[in-house]
Amino acid sequence: MSEAVIRVEGLSKSYATEAGLFPALKGVDLTIEYGEFVAIMGPSGSGKSTFMNLLGCLDTPTSGDYFLTGRNVARLHADELASLRNRTIGFVFQGFNLLPRMTLADNVALPLVYAHREREPRREWTRDERRAKAREMLAKVGLESYAQSLPARISGGQEQRVAIARALINSPSLILADEPTGNLDSHTSEEIMALFRKLNNEGITIVLVTHELDVAAHARRQVRFLDGRIVSDDQTPQSSGAPTLESGVLRDDDSFAARSTPC
Ligand code: ADP
Ligand code: MG
Repeated sequence: MSEAVIRVEGLSKSYATEAGLFPALKGVDLTIEYGEFVAIMGPSGSGKSTFMNLLGCLDTPTSGDYFLTGRNVARLHADELASLRNRTIGFVFQGFNLLPRMTLADNVALPLVYAHREREPRREWTRDERRAKAREMLAKVGLESYAQSLPARISGGQEQRVAIARALINSPSLILADEPTGNLDSHTSEEIMALFRKLNNEGITIVLVTHELDVAAHARRQVRFLDGRIVSDDQTPQSSGAPTLESGVLRDDDSFAARSTPC
């Protein structure tokens, strides 16, 4: 059996507060396969960010298991976990978190400073290699010509595209995005979602938190949280306009029909 990119079982998280333990996540089971595009929805305070922080290995659960690409993260040493996380996950946040005094290319290249080259684990990226890779990622999000600009020179939507380029630089199989369009107007949100769809069509698994229905409509699957639990898990209705695999299915049907037509 091939492993899912994400599998959680009975995942719970309680925060210590002055009033005692607060259960923010109450036994969540969820499997996300490679190539999925999932929107995590639910009202404020329902546990979405808590869940995303656990998926991103940025926090540890109170109980339950998390298998990331089949590896039980609780069983990994800190350096193994950091390496798995860096190789597997790209993060995108609501605030774009670009460093203001660095050029966009250097912002995008930043994760490489902490990474080692694939297949050459002992060799670090040189400065020129980092810059070339950053330009490649900026080209992917349509901002190559801004490589030498500072973040203050570009719009919010462009900043988020730079943050997505930064998330892509380690060739992650999974992007985790917590309210990535939360600071953007609806037109710019659509552009960012189109970019996520393109990346998903290229094979990257995307898990994205949003409370906006039109943003969630771009995902193929919608998982809804309420009071720390999953209360629904549905495929997105096809009328959303989001791309689907249907065209491929139709082609298969057509060729079957052609083959079975009597001559
Ligand atoms: P969402 O992202 O869906 O708005 P969160 O996961 O941020 O929800 O929060 C879920 C609940 O846990 C909320 O009631 C929030 O106040 C609480 N919470 C989140 N983080 C902490 C924390 N560090 N300490 C105490 N309570 C927290
Ligand atoms: Mg949140």
